[in-house]
Amino acid sequence: MTVSYDLMDFEEVLERFDPVMGLEVHVELATETKMFSASSAFFGAEPNSHVDPVSLGLPGALPVVNAKGVEWAIKIGLALNCEIAESSRFARKNYFYPDQPKNYQISQYDEPIAHDGYLDVVLDDGEIYRVEIERAHMEEDTGKLTHLGGATGRLQGATSSLVDCNRAGVPLIEIVTKPIEGAGARAPEVARCYVAALRELVVALGVSDARMDQGSMRCDSNLSLRPIGQKEFGTRTETKNINSVRSVEQAVRFEMMRQAQVITDGGTIRQETRHYQETDGSTTAGRIKETAEDYRYFNDPDLPPVIAPREWVEEIRATLPELPWVRKERIQKEWKLSDEEMRDLVNAGALDLIIDTVEAGTTPSEARSWWVSYLTQKANEKGVELAALEITPAQVARVVALINEGKLTNKLARKAVDGVLEGEGDVDEVVKNRGLEVVRDDGAIEKAVDEALAANPDIVEKIKGGNKKAGGAIVGAVMKATRGKADPALVNKLIAEKCR
Ligand code: ADP
Ligand code: MG
Repeated sequence: MTVSYDLMDFEEVLERFDPVMGLEVHVELATETKMFSASSAFFGAEPNSHVDPVSLGLPGALPVVNAKGVEWAIKIGLALNCEIAESSRFARKNYFYPDQPKNYQISQYDEPIAHDGYLDVVLDDGEIYRVEIERAHMEEDTGKLTHLGGATGRLQGATSSLVDCNRAGVPLIEIVTKPIEGAGARAPEVARCYVAALRELVVALGVSDARMDQGSMRCDSNLSLRPIGQKEFGTRTETKNINSVRSVEQAVRFEMMRQAQVITDGGTIRQETRHYQETDGSTTAGRIKETAEDYRYFNDPDLPPVIAPREWVEEIRATLPELPWVRKERIQKEWKLSDEEMRDLVNAGALDLIIDTVEAGTTPSEARSWWVSYLTQKANEKGVELAALEITPAQVARVVALINEGKLTNKLARKAVDGVLEGEGDVDEVVKNRGLEVVRDDGAIEKAVDEALAANPDIVEKIKGGNKKAGGAIVGAVMKATRGKADPALVNKLIAEKCR
């Protein structure tokens, strides 16, 4: 399928239009059980093995609210500086789709549990951008459909579909921003940084693993344009299926350039959902957007209001961990890092790894130098995230300790790390099996030094003549003879003594 679209140049879009954006993020909670029944909410089990009368929508089955789900919703609301409703309600959002046997989704409508908050987002250059939160509400996830027989795995062209209800009823929190106005050229960046910050936040709160690639965090981005100077918002599109933080940025950018061209060509923007295309970063038209009336929302008669007494909310507030941005600021101060150094390390995904390495006994600068240089290089070579490397912070700390004890040189230490990355075992095993430990036996080293000096009389003359650099060739020869295991400090000392 080839899609054709005309795009206006991004700079030109900004000269004529002002983008308005709205982000809806769904976070799947990592509770043990589902939002309204006792089935496991665990991801990745045999299809339809985590089901029960409630999540299958069998007649007469009654939902019971998961208290942990409510507690975690409040936790997210508090971290987002929201007001927590003392009383909120579940509603039925009615629509037919085979991934949802009840034919309605339990959600919250006009009485969400959390509302009117904000998240201060740090942009790439360190500037803070405040994103206002309209609400964070509780709902349940739907089942999962797998379409067979088509070329693309989509419904179009499929000959049959499979339904897996394991996910049906898993707790979801939907976090909706107020319209984000005035970001201009930075709108795509704000979108990316907001979703990344939200992701970090829920992970730090311990309420979700927020894996966009596995669907435990999902983002829809709404975008409209209005001519510069106009007050009223234009018509928005809502782009779905965005499965990475980078793609959020690209989806916003693409819609800005596409919509600007459509409007300038005299066309109109339809209020529709669009699908993000991972292959080329474009969006394609989906269905015409339903309005709230189409869903016939009404309070769910099976569920009582959710009451959140103030004392309980305060108890939950007291359990909030140090929030990611507070932690970053503290670490930056403690380690005396510049904004740029801090940003590099955060962008490399190294912050937590370095913190854990320091906890395992290194200094911050020792830990930093391993994670942001050699290990980042290794991760790039393998094309994986830093955290996915087969080495733990404790193992890195062990390597550093061996260097400090003089048992490994930096070069040998890199070989030890290589061994660990290759799955050859723990640091000490690799050092032993690869025979990496520095040779401290003076006899063996002295013999190698003597041989190197005897073989290079011209260099000896230079050293004696006061040329300090000439010694490097002797050190090199000794290292070669000892397969890199001699202690360089000892070698230099011996050379100096012998060439006096
Ligand atoms: P829906 O039911 O269509 O998903 P929501 O209220 O859940 O609607 O989310 C709509 C999102 O789009 C919100 O973040 C809102 O701030 C934003 N939004 C609303 N109107 C516009 C507009 N004209 N242009 C851009 N974003 C908008
Ligand atoms: Mg919505």
